[in-house]
Amino acid sequence: MAIVSDLLDPDQPTGLLIGEEFAEPNDDLEVRSPFTGEVVARVPVAGATDVDAAVAVARRHLRPPPAAERAVVLERAAGLIGERAERFARTMALEAGKPLAQARLEVQRGVDTFTFSAVEARTLAGDVIPMESSTSGVGKIAFTMREPIGIVGAISPFNFPLNLAAHKVAPAIAAGCPVILKPAEKTPLTALLMAEALLDAGLPPGFLQVVFGDGAAVGGALVEHPEVPMISFTGSNPVGWAIRERVPKKRVALELGNSTPVIVAADADLEHAAERIAASGYSYAGQSCISVQRVYAHRSVREELEQRLADRISRLEVGDPLDEATAVGPVIDTGSRDRLTSWIDEDERAGAKILAGGALAGDHLEPTLLADITRQMRVGREEAFGPVVGIASYESPEEAIELANSTVFGLQAGIFTTRVDRAIDWARRLEFGGVVINETPTFRADQQPYGGLKESGNVKEGPRYTVEDMTEDRLVIIQVAE
Ligand code: NAD
Repeated sequence: MAIVSDLLDPDQPTGLLIGEEFAEPNDDLEVRSPFTGEVVARVPVAGATDVDAAVAVARRHLRPPPAAERAVVLERAAGLIGERAERFARTMALEAGKPLAQARLEVQRGVDTFTFSAVEARTLAGDVIPMESSTSGVGKIAFTMREPIGIVGAISPFNFPLNLAAHKVAPAIAAGCPVILKPAEKTPLTALLMAEALLDAGLPPGFLQVVFGDGAAVGGALVEHPEVPMISFTGSNPVGWAIRERVPKKRVALELGNSTPVIVAADADLEHAAERIAASGYSYAGQSCISVQRVYAHRSVREELEQRLADRISRLEVGDPLDEATAVGPVIDTGSRDRLTSWIDEDERAGAKILAGGALAGDHLEPTLLADITRQMRVGREEAFGPVVGIASYESPEEAIELANSTVFGLQAGIFTTRVDRAIDWARRLEFGGVVINETPTFRADQQPYGGLKESGNVKEGPRYTVEDMTEDRLVIIQVAE
């Protein structure tokens, strides 16, 4: 029996997708609700031979259907995902513990990712090269064509089980690359719903395949497979950079973690800043790669900001992700919860003060605010990936920028200030792939170039940018005259 919970749609596919259809389910891997700990479903685990079989099928799709057909599939899939939004949202609430309202937003964003990818399929084109602008090029015309790179191995994390898989699969289809998806072992079910929508939308069976299982074993087999020239990875820093080192000759696109800083200047609208930080530091229990984690407030406004934040945090509804009122659900597993509580204890012993939360409510960590964090503390230097925000004060703009830049991460940062000149100057000096002014940096629209500097990654994602990464310029030169 593959479906265990009667909260899950009985038609939910649970088999691996290798070749043309979903395989018969078996009971290898338990998918558990992070909120109740109960088994929701059991799914099969792939082995290295399944990865070989998937690559053999993908090879048959190396000459993809025309771009217009791929665009239609992507447009139809966007429509189907939108129609099935509630099914997706419930599955995400069950397997990822994502509160329903936030899961619905993710579905809407997934629709956007497919829609923008369809646009890329329709507009994918190379350049005309002005050959006669050099003496050696006289008498020739030349152009480039964007050719698909080949089979893409897509490895995705648990925290956005639809949209982060979509950011790999939909651009791959737009680019004409057969794709093998390895979703996180905690959240395989949402990926299967996406695959089902694509098959229903008319994607040639075998163009997308889905394999699950242990990251090192199944992900590793995909990474090392000699016929997979590109790995597109979203996940944690150690895993991502280890993949990069393992296959130096492959194209490896990395979207990794962050320790998101926000600077709140003395002239900021404090009520607005507090509202946005409280909402986004704890949304999906802080398990977004751009959850606000470190707040640096000017000395003159720090106390007031702390009070406003603590007040808002105490009013957040914590509970069952399937409950409509819930704002903060559980973290993904007890291991993550226990790591976070030990970090809070360690930082408290090092001098941080707990202004909100800090303890368990039942089995789950309360939304926590730590004051007086330093760059040596866990919350000041590592990626928390949980409902924990730290705050500290700064004296000068230089100090604020230096503190924000003081970690190895560089994905997104935020600034709250009413001074436009300062905001632009600081945005230039913050070493991050994106800087968000007067809105939370826990923000992404799916067409934007999104990706980190420093150890947070090596590419920008977003359909336009990802299609570019998944294609290569093929230069054609034609001699037209002596
Ligand atoms: P993770 O690194 O544990 O796992 C990510 C994926 O990699 C999973 O599918 C996993 O099975 C696979 N994997 C694990 N070991 C592997 C190996 N040796 N070889 C190949 N694949 C392997 O990450 P997670 O816990 O699922 O996700 C959380 C992390 O992802 C956080 O660090 C977060 O910041 C990051 N993240 C980044 C972005 C971004 O766009 N930059 C977005 C979301 C999450």
